[in-house]
Amino acid sequence: MSRSPANSAAFPPAFSYREVRKGLFRRSSGTVLCCDEVPLTQLADRFGTPLYIYSNSSIVRRMRAFDDAFGKIGHTVCYSVKANSSLGILRLIAGMRCGFDVVSGGELERVLQVDRRAARKVVFSGVGKTKAEMRTALKAKILLFNVESESELWALAETAATLKETAPMALRVNPDVPADTHPYISTGLRKHKFGVPIAEARELYARASGSRHLRVAGISVHIGSQITDVAPFGAAMERVADLARFLREDGHRIDYVDAGGGLGIDYQNLSLPDYSEYVSLYAQAVMRPLRGLKVHLLLEPGRSIVGPAGALLTSVLYRKTNDSKKFLVVDAAMNDLLRPSLYGAYHEIVPVVMNSRSAARRESVDVVGPVCETGDFLARDRELPILGEGDLLAILDAGAYGMVQASNYNTRPRPAEVLVNGRSMKLIRRRESVADLFRQESF
Ligand SMILES: *Cc1c(COP(=O)(O)O)cnc(C)c1O
Repeated sequence: MSRSPANSAAFPPAFSYREVRKGLFRRSSGTVLCCDEVPLTQLADRFGTPLYIYSNSSIVRRMRAFDDAFGKIGHTVCYSVKANSSLGILRLIAGMRCGFDVVSGGELERVLQVDRRAARKVVFSGVGKTKAEMRTALKAKILLFNVESESELWALAETAATLKETAPMALRVNPDVPADTHPYISTGLRKHKFGVPIAEARELYARASGSRHLRVAGISVHIGSQITDVAPFGAAMERVADLARFLREDGHRIDYVDAGGGLGIDYQNLSLPDYSEYVSLYAQAVMRPLRGLKVHLLLEPGRSIVGPAGALLTSVLYRKTNDSKKFLVVDAAMNDLLRPSLYGAYHEIVPVVMNSRSAARRESVDVVGPVCETGDFLARDRELPILGEGDLLAILDAGAYGMVQASNYNTRPRPAEVLVNGRSMKLIRRRESVADLFRQESF
C-alpha cells in the first residue's frame, strides 16, 4: 500500500485502522478500518454493501481549516454542491454558516430544502442556466449569478424584468491559464466552454451596466478541478485583480471576487503538505493579488472539503483468473463510482481487515464491478493483499464526485449513504430498491 490511512499526520484522516476487541465484530482479528470510531465491518453488517460512508468530523475539520486559511480577508466559503449534494451533507455544511455554489436549479432546491435562509449566500454558476432556473434563484434572492455568456446576460435581464427584480451578477471570466489536471476537468483555457474571454469582459460589463435589471457586483473565475499546484490559482487571480481595477475605473462596483474552487486532493500519495498548511498556501496564492483591492472574496471548494472524508465500501464477490490475469469482482461498479472509468482516476483501495496473513502476501489484481462494460473497473494492476470472497474493501477518497455521479446503469440500485460522527451513525440515504428504479415508467 503506498499510503496507509493509519499514518495519521497532524491533520487526522477520516479513515484509520484500529484494534477492535476480538469477537465483537466478524473477521475481527487484527486491525479494522474505522470511520471515526466505527469499524467498517459493523457498517457493512448493518447497512450492506456497496455503501458510501462519510465522516462528519472530517468534513467539519476540513471546512474549518479552509475557512481559517482566509481569515485575513472578508470572505464567504460557498461549498460547491456538485461535489456531494446529499441533503445530510448540505445540512451539516449549512450548520457551519457556509454559503453554497450551485450549478443547476435542482442543486438550488436542495440547498433551500436544508436551509431557506442559506439563499442569500448562494452563487449560481453554469453555462446553461434556463430562465426557469433563473426565476427560482431570483425569487430566492441569491447572492450572485455567475454569468457565462452575453446571451445568458440578456436572458437574465429579461427574467429579472418580468419579476421586477434586479439580478446581482458577475461575469465568469476565462483567464486563459493552463492548469495541470485531467483535460475533462480543466476549464480555464480559451478552448473550453466555460466563461467569457477575459479580454472581452470589459466590453460586456459596460453593456450589462446599461440594463436596469442587472446589477454588476463582481468578477468570478474557476480554472478547473483537482489542481494540486497553487501557482495557477495565483496567476488567474492576478488577471482578475487587473480586471477589477479596470472595471472600477470604468465606474463599476466590484464588491465580490469569486475565486471558484478546484483545489486538488492527495489521491495517490503525491506527498502534498498537511491539509492546514496546504490550504494556507492556496489561500496566500489567491489573496496576494487582491491586496489593497478591498473586495469580499467568495470561494467555491468542493472536492477538498468532502473528498477525503468519504469512502465507498464494497465486498469481494468472486476471485477469477483469466490466463495469468487476476480479477477481484466486487459488488461496487462504475455506476456507483464513475471516476476510474471516466477519467482513469486513481483511488486508493485498502482491505477493511488487516491481519498478519493479509499483510504478508500480496498480488496484482484488477478490481472490477459486475457491469457489462470493459471500462467497468475501480483499479487496474493494483498491488493488494491477497483477499478472499466475502472480504471487504474500502475505496478511499470517494466523498467527492462519487455518489453524485452514480447512475442506475444495468438497473443497479444506487448505494446507501451513512454519515458517521464519532461513535454514532446516521443513514442519510437509504439504499435504492429495484422497484424505485421503474416507478416512473409505464408500459
Ligand atoms: C465544480 C466547480 C467547483 C468545485 O470544484 P472542486 O474542484 O470540487 O473544488 C467550483 N466552482 C464551479 C463553478 C464549479 O463548476
